[in-house]
Amino acid sequence: MKVGFIGLGIMGLPMAKNMVKSGFNLVVYNRSMKPVKELNAIGVEAGSSPRDVAMKCDILITMLPDSPDVQEVVLGKGGVIEGVKPGMILIDMSTISPKVSVEISEVLAESGVEMLDAPVSGGQKGAIEGSLSIMVGGKKKIFEKCMPVFKSIGKTIVLVGGNGAGETVKLCNQVICAINIVSMCEGMSLCRRAGVDVEKMIEVVNGGLGASNIIANLAPKILEGDMAPGFKLRLQQKDLRLALQLAEELNFSMPVTGLTNQIFRIAEGKGLGEKGTQALIEAYNLLG
Ligand code: NAP
Repeated sequence: MKVGFIGLGIMGLPMAKNMVKSGFNLVVYNRSMKPVKELNAIGVEAGSSPRDVAMKCDILITMLPDSPDVQEVVLGKGGVIEGVKPGMILIDMSTISPKVSVEISEVLAESGVEMLDAPVSGGQKGAIEGSLSIMVGGKKKIFEKCMPVFKSIGKTIVLVGGNGAGETVKLCNQVICAINIVSMCEGMSLCRRAGVDVEKMIEVVNGGLGASNIIANLAPKILEGDMAPGFKLRLQQKDLRLALQLAEELNFSMPVTGLTNQIFRIAEGKGLGEKGTQALIEAYNLLG
């Protein structure tokens, strides 16, 4: 079985490497060439376009930033749709709008192509370690067929519903994570303003009920002044926008998510978008 992989960024590149380690025969494509060359150097075939990758594989994975990127790569000129054959499976692991995901699956179905939405959680660390949590939307039969692929990159793999349900669950996950990031930054900033040792505060909080993976992963980076992106701040803001759009479609209110989105937008406006989500602390630093 040949597997295509498009989108070799912070997440996609280590995921593709783990698939190679598990013995999958890959053909890859990315907009910029650096990660393609890195994989090429370990014997991975490079496709010349999304269309070319689709022509060469049975299962194709996309790991792209946002809904318009997936629409362009899959349905655009020179896109996946031009190279598909009936029986092929597209697994979109990007975090995008559930509505757009369903629309893409419907277009692909006309060409006999099945789609799973399978966004992930666990960050860059989980992608490198092959321990991602994968939330899948689609048909059970297709999910089961793709299980070996999922097992090569993830640990917790759950079919959560039909097409679009994976993206819905991922947006819920992102709401929970983003609010946790804001609360961590607010707590750390208050502690510093009070003149109390922030490192000691984090140590004791993470042994109690306030502990979280977010604090365990991001607080040490903040304390070291490491703002390099594991997850870009602008992508976290994108996820909050998508969650709020979904809430709007459902006529549902999410007041704290709305406020959290505004805080992330302020941080993005201050030029922090390409830094990691932990750089939200810098927006608080600006407050004094
Ligand atoms: P990223 O580092 O920005 O990577 C995105 C990749 O997609 C880049 O390599 C980019 O190429 C490529 N790309 C963009 N448009 C393309 C196109 N039209 N054709 C081909 N390649 C294209 O983002 P990421 O952090 O890996 O995130 C990817 C997705 O996973 C996002 O939906 C994100 O929300 C989600 N996610 C991220 C994390 C995390 O911790 N980072 C965790 C869970 C989920 P260039 O090199 O040319 O820019």
